[in-house]
Amino acid sequence: MNLPPGISVKRQGNAYVIFRNRHERIGSIVISGTPLGDTQLQPYVEEPQDKNKQIVALVAQQMSDALLVHVAKKPDYLRRDAFPPNNLPAGTEVFENKVFPCSKCNQIVAKLVFSWASASIEEMETIGKKFELEASVSDYPVWILGAPDCDKDDIAKHLTLQIAPKKGKVYWEHPDDMNKRLIELDDNHC
Ligand SMILES: [Zn+2]
Repeated sequence: MNLPPGISVKRQGNAYVIFRNRHERIGSIVISGTPLGDTQLQPYVEEPQDKNKQIVALVAQQMSDALLVHVAKKPDYLRRDAFPPNNLPAGTEVFENKVFPCSKCNQIVAKLVFSWASASIEEMETIGKKFELEASVSDYPVWILGAPDCDKDDIAKHLTLQIAPKKGKVYWEHPDDMNKRLIELDDNHC
């Protein structure tokens, strides 16, 4: 893992505990399996949350990316997307997302988050805010895709907002243009 100075991670049972200066426990990532055979990472942040949440998010992101890279290395027939989680706490929102591993080295080159129901600039900005912490620790580009401007797939442009590495402005874009960009990121990755 690529950790900031002074931060260390130790495995304790089914959890990875995060420490500052070796003894100050600032959070943990609990690993569990789901009945459907997926791996679930559950981050916990110790108080003061404002001080600790960024580092916990960074460790959680690196662990989940490592799992996704591991999946990307498997042959096609052993690869599948995770099932949507069930038994979520009330008020939890789930956003479908897709990561794009490099076709040469399997490292993640980009991520798309889908929020098909977001139909205005304001709604897109609200979703962008929800992903602020995740975006701040991402070392690859991330976009949020919102609602289309019509229901004809071949010409429909979608609301689009880049949130990492830098936050952009909401604009309309046809998925073909996003695909071209993803192919270019893959071509230029390594
Ligand atoms: Zn690569």
